[in-house]
Amino acid sequence: MARCVEQSRKLQKRAESMIPGGVSSPVRAFGAVGGDQPFIARGNGPHLWDADGNQYIDYLGSWGPLILGHAPQVVVEAITAAARNGTSFGASIAQEADLAELVISAFPHIQKVRFVSSGTEATMSAIRLARAYTKRKYIVKFEGCYHGHADALLVKAGSGIATLGIPGSAGVPQEFTQFTLALPFNDTEALEHAFNKFKHQIACVIVEPVAGNMGCVPASGGYLASLRAITQREKTVLIFDEVMTGFRVAFGGAQELYGIHPDLTTLGKIIGGGLPVGAYGGPSEIMDLVAPLGPMYQAGTLSGNPLAMAAGVATLQALRDKKAELYPQLEKLSAELVDGVATIAKDAGIAMRANRVGSMFTWFFTSDAVTDWNSASKSDTQAFARFHRAMLDNGVYLPPSQYEAAFLSAVHTEENVRQTITAAKRAFALKS
Ligand SMILES: *Cc1c(COP(=O)(O)O)cnc(C)c1O
Repeated sequence: MARCVEQSRKLQKRAESMIPGGVSSPVRAFGAVGGDQPFIARGNGPHLWDADGNQYIDYLGSWGPLILGHAPQVVVEAITAAARNGTSFGASIAQEADLAELVISAFPHIQKVRFVSSGTEATMSAIRLARAYTKRKYIVKFEGCYHGHADALLVKAGSGIATLGIPGSAGVPQEFTQFTLALPFNDTEALEHAFNKFKHQIACVIVEPVAGNMGCVPASGGYLASLRAITQREKTVLIFDEVMTGFRVAFGGAQELYGIHPDLTTLGKIIGGGLPVGAYGGPSEIMDLVAPLGPMYQAGTLSGNPLAMAAGVATLQALRDKKAELYPQLEKLSAELVDGVATIAKDAGIAMRANRVGSMFTWFFTSDAVTDWNSASKSDTQAFARFHRAMLDNGVYLPPSQYEAAFLSAVHTEENVRQTITAAKRAFALKS
């Protein structure tokens, strides 16, 4: 089945003449999967429509934020009402405390939270804060984990960088990453070794408690507990980057799901309900170092923006009010979808490993378990690319890279799942 691509091609050409690659973020360009990138005209519920009128069941969910699907009424109404009262003041509004209260109710170890406008700002600021608090220089991150595009974090950073196959980024002087230690994920021994070598010098360990930016890769049993124990022993700040997992794998994120509490938490994606919001938070003892109370500077002209706060509050309220049914429903439907497609692949003789935590998942085209960047990178990205194009032609929109997590939303239906499994059957029948 071919889809019409004429309008998207035209729009692509126009965008490319003025915007690098025609995109505002690199993986959107479909470089890793080839084929025509659909220009999106609108979204509603679980569906997207492109400029040529093709309809898709969407499992990208704007890369994670859209747990309520596209254009949920409560969010649209909240944004509209907020806009009528002015879009930005550069002064405090009541809704910042409303969103803070919702965040704190979901993440009990957070006593204070600061809002920013992206996940990148959240992690960058949390790391600055960890360094201010410990007065140490080194930071530990893990290979394949992505924490946004701040200079010091573009080291073995998964995601778009993995997709593009570049080692880090041009334009980042080596001196800017000299205090960044990149260690293998799910490897406690490597961490112990680093702490031995850099005794009393490591300010923080930042981790995606369920990695999502090398595709979905859960922490192995006991791994997060040992991260917690080691960092406590070493008086190092443990940062859970829950920009993707917060309000996704459970209302209270991975820290609720696994019962392990970090010192600092970074949030983004879902807390903005589709508008640009990030946040970092933790105990007052650490957060009170942030300006104006303390010496750690961090600011933002549009931070706490009224529209963004309104969208975030509406989204988190909806999740909070329905969480007892919503998260089990996401779990059940996601399991049906992910296992359903994995079974079809098995029947078709295709090597596939499905990784899933709640409603975030990845179908890895490899025969061996995927537990870290090394095993993820053994995936057959060409096979994934063929699968991706075939699914798109059959009305299913997946993240355009093997190394990105896919998401199911609260408004996806059994029918959507059945249609997706049928699309996968067709896709595997077309296997070259
Ligand atoms: C998306 C993401 C970021 C970056 O957030 P942006 O809003 O894109 O800057 C950081 N960390 C994790 C875990 C993410 O998934």
